[in-house]
This record gives sequence, structure tokens and C-alpha cells, in this order.
Amino acid sequence: MSYEGIARALANGDPRELSDQALAERFGCTAETVARVRHQTGAPAYSAGYRARRIAFEEAYAARVEDVEGGHRRWTGTVSKDGVPMVCTRFGQETAARIAFRIAQGRPPVGHVKATCEVPHCVAPDCVADRPLREELRRAARAGAVAA
Ligand SMILES: [Zn+2]
Repeated sequence: MSYEGIARALANGDPRELSDQALAERFGCTAETVARVRHQTGAPAYSAGYRARRIAFEEAYAARVEDVEGGHRRWTGTVSKDGVPMVCTRFGQETAARIAFRIAQGRPPVGHVKATCEVPHCVAPDCVADRPLREELRRAARAGAVAA
């Protein structure tokens, strides 16, 4: 019952932003139960400063993107030696693609984040995918090819 719901909430959201207490209230159980599910599923611990850090990165990202035709986004900020768009904040730096992914999916990326469109270094949230999402898109493309 609540175990499944808590495990799903931790898997679909960002466990570092979901406190045991908040989940306990949502699922009508004790914080200890949530802590147990968190431990059993291997979800990371809640971090009070994590949300402020994420928002700083998202604001820095939003200040340095420019919409271009076709739903793509151009980066106007700092780039790495290799030309990779980088978001710089007082908390450190992160690639713009990772921040865009987090905005679109509501969870942190797993593995590398790459653009799925043909626009070089596009940083549109809808144009980036992490490893699990790329695998999902490939599976869907194969299934579509079979169905067609
Ligand atoms: Zn794009």
C-alpha cells in the first residue's frame, strides 16, 4: 500500500527534495516508515540545501538561453574548452544540458545528457535526454518501426 506509493514518489521525483516528514504526511504514515522505504530502495537522503542549489542553477540557466526557431534553444553563456555550454553559479558549475534535463524531467539525470536534435549544443529541455531516456526513445522508435 503506502510502501509502493512512497517508493514510486522517491523514484519519480528527486529524493533529495522530498523529506521523510513531507512524504509521511502525504501517505499518512510515520517518518520512520518513509526512512525505511528510502533505505530499502537505495534512494539518497533528503538535503535541506539541495532545493536552493537547484533553483540557483535553474535561474542561471534561464538567464542565458535564447529561444530559436523550431523549439530549440541557443546558449549565450560560458562554454567549456570543448564548446560545451556551462551554467556557473556560486554553488559551482554544471553543463546546461544537465540543468535543462532536470527542468524537463523533474529528476536528476543518469549518465551523460546529450541533445536528441540536430542543432549543435541545443539546450532546450525537450531536446536533451539522459541514458535511460535515450534507451526508452530507441525502444519506442523500434516499436514504431515494427508497427508501421
Ligand atoms: Zn534542439
